[in-house]
Amino acid sequence: MARGKGATIGFVPTMGALHEGHKSLLDYARKENEVVVCSIFVNPTQFNNADDLKHYPRPQSEDIQLLEESHCDILFEPSVEEMYPGKDYTLLNEDFGMLDKVMEGKSRPGHFAGMITIVSKLFQLVNPDIAYFGRKDFQQLMLIKYFVTEHKLPIIIRDCPTIRDKDGLALSSRNKRLSETERMDALLIPQSLRKVKEMWRKYPVEEIKETVQNLFSDESGLGLDYFEIVYEPTLEPVIDGQTRKLPVVACIAAKAGKVRLIDNLVIQ
Ligand code: AMP
Repeated sequence: MARGKGATIGFVPTMGALHEGHKSLLDYARKENEVVVCSIFVNPTQFNNADDLKHYPRPQSEDIQLLEESHCDILFEPSVEEMYPGKDYTLLNEDFGMLDKVMEGKSRPGHFAGMITIVSKLFQLVNPDIAYFGRKDFQQLMLIKYFVTEHKLPIIIRDCPTIRDKDGLALSSRNKRLSETERMDALLIPQSLRKVKEMWRKYPVEEIKETVQNLFSDESGLGLDYFEIVYEPTLEPVIDGQTRKLPVVACIAAKAGKVRLIDNLVIQ
C-alpha cells in the first residue's frame, strides 16, 4: 500500500536482542524512507553451532520497546515454519568465489549459505528500496553487496558504521552472554585493532600479524580464531609489495569463554 503512494521502504534485517548498533541502522532508515521495516528472525540455518543457536538471546518485549523508540513502522517477526515451510531447509547454492571461503566462511562452514538464503527470502517478502547493514559484520556486508550486484536486484545496500561501547567493544547481541571477566578480556579485540592501525605502513604485514598473535597469548583469556588484513571489497589478503588501490580492513574473530566475537577496522 505504501509503495502505491510512492513511498520508499527502508529495511533493517536483524536477529533481535536489539542494541544501539541496530538502533543506528533504524535511525539511518528513518531519515531516508517513509516506511521503516525491521525483521527479527533468529535464522537456524546460519548457525553452525547448536549451542550458539540455543543460547541466542531473545528479549522480545525489550526489542519491541527499542523499535517503538526508533519509530519503526513495521516489525516482521516470522516463525521458522513461515520462512522454511514444511521444514524445507534447502539453501541457495551461490558462487561467491573466494568471498565465502575465507575468515568467517572458513571458521563457520555453511554460515554464509544460510545467511544469504534468509536475506534473499526477506528481500523478496519485504521488497525494500534500501536495506541497511552494519560494517560490524564486514564479510557478510561484502557478500550481500556482491549478491545484489550479481542478481541485479533493485535494492540499495547501505553500509552503516560499527557502534561501540565507550570502552571500544563493538556492540553485539552476543555481548549479553559475557561474564564480567570475559567482557574485560574482550576489550583486547578493539585494542589490538587500534594497535594494528598504528603499526600499519610502518611494519610488514607478517610482523603485524605476529604482534596480534602474541597479544592473544594464553594469559589474554581469549582464543584467537583468525586475524586477517584484507582488501575491501575483494577480501584478498594484503601482501607486502603488492599494494592495490583499495581500502584495507583488519578483521578479527576471537572467543571469550564460549562466546565468539568478531570485529574489524578500516586501516587504510
Ligand atoms: P544481527 O542482529 O547481529 O544479525 O545484526 C543485524 C544487523 O545489525 C546487521 O546488519 C549487523 O551488521 C548490524 N549490527 C550488529 N551490531 C552492530 C554494531 N555494533 N554496529 C552497527 N551495526 C551492527
